[in-house]
Amino acid sequence: QSPILEVNNLQTAFEIDGELHNAVDNVSFHVKPKQIVGIVGESGCGKSVMSLSIMKLLPKGIGSIRNGDIVFEGKHLEKLSDKEMNKIRGKDVSMIFQEPMTSLNPVFTIGYQLQETLFNHMTITKKEARLKSIALLKSVGISRPEKIVDEYPHQLSGGMRQRVMIAIAIACQPKLLIADEPTTALDVTVQAQILDLLKEIQEINNMAIILITHDLGVVAEMCDEVIVMYAGKIVERTDVDTLFHNPKHPYTELLMGAIPKMDEDVEVLSSIEGIVPSLKNMPKVGCRFANRCPKAMPECNSITPLLAESEAGHEVSCLLYETSIPKEGSNVQ
Ligand code: SF4
Ligand code: MG
Repeated sequence: QSPILEVNNLQTAFEIDGELHNAVDNVSFHVKPKQIVGIVGESGCGKSVMSLSIMKLLPKGIGSIRNGDIVFEGKHLEKLSDKEMNKIRGKDVSMIFQEPMTSLNPVFTIGYQLQETLFNHMTITKKEARLKSIALLKSVGISRPEKIVDEYPHQLSGGMRQRVMIAIAIACQPKLLIADEPTTALDVTVQAQILDLLKEIQEINNMAIILITHDLGVVAEMCDEVIVMYAGKIVERTDVDTLFHNPKHPYTELLMGAIPKMDEDVEVLSSIEGIVPSLKNMPKVGCRFANRCPKAMPECNSITPLLAESEAGHEVSCLLYETSIPKEGSNVQ
C-alpha cells in the first residue's frame, strides 16, 4: 500500500539571534493509510516542530522549512501557498493539540467553532451545520450535545474540551490526523478515555494518525509504527512490538525505564539524567546523545552515527551497531 504521507529529508530551522538552527534535521518517514505512527521523545526533540512543519503552521519569520519535501497524497505541501494549504488543513489533514483551551476560542460557542470548520470546507446551510455539529459532538461521546453546542469552552471540563477539539478535527473526515500530546494535560482516567475515543474514530473513519507523545505507554497502547526522536533527529524506527521487545538505541532503552507504572508512586518515576541539548548548543559532530548516554564510547563524540537498518524493518542510529558507522570516505552528515 502506498503511503498517504511521505516526509523526505525534512530540515526545519529556527532563527535565534540571527542564526539558523535546525530543530528538525534531515528527517524522513512515511505514514500509510489507516496507520497509527507514534513519534516519541522528550520535549525539545523536534516532535512538535515536525508536526507544525507538516501543517505549515510554523511561526512566521522565525521557523521555516529549509530542505526536503512533505508529500501528502501526491501533493507537495511544502510548495503550496497559504491559500492552497488552507483548503487542505482542517479538511484532509487536521491536528489536535495538547491544551484545548488555547486552541478553542473563548469568546465563541462550541457550536460556532464547529460550524466555522464546516463552512470553511463544505457548502451547507446553517441549519444543516448545526445538526451536523450536534451529531459530531455526540460521536465524540459528549452527552447532551444539544445543550453543549450552545456553551462556551470555559463551561466544559478539560476532557470535554479535548473531545470538542477532536470533533472539530474530524468534522470533515480527514485522512490524516496529527495529534500532538493530545492527552498530556488530562488526568489518567480521562486520558485513557480520550485514547480509546481516538482509536475508535480511527477505525470508523479509516484515517491515519500521527501521534506525538513523550509517553511510551501511550505508544504501546495505540501505535503500529514508532519513531523515536532525539535532538531533532530520528534515532530509532520500527514496528511497536519490535521496539518494546528489542529496543536498540540507548535513548529508547532509557525512555522505557521511564515509563510510569500505574501502581507506582509518581515520586519514584525514574527519568533520564541531563537534558536535551538546546538548538544553540547542538554538537556539530558526533552523537547528539553522547553526553547523556550510559553506553557512550570515546568515538561517540567525533563520529556521527547514521540512521540505518540494522535488522530488516528496524532502523537505528547508534555507533554500537555496525550499520550506523559511516564508511571511510563517505560524506558524513
Ligand atoms: Fe550512546 Fe554512542 Fe550510541 Fe550515541 S552513538 S547512543 S553516545 S553509544
Ligand atoms: Mg511538543
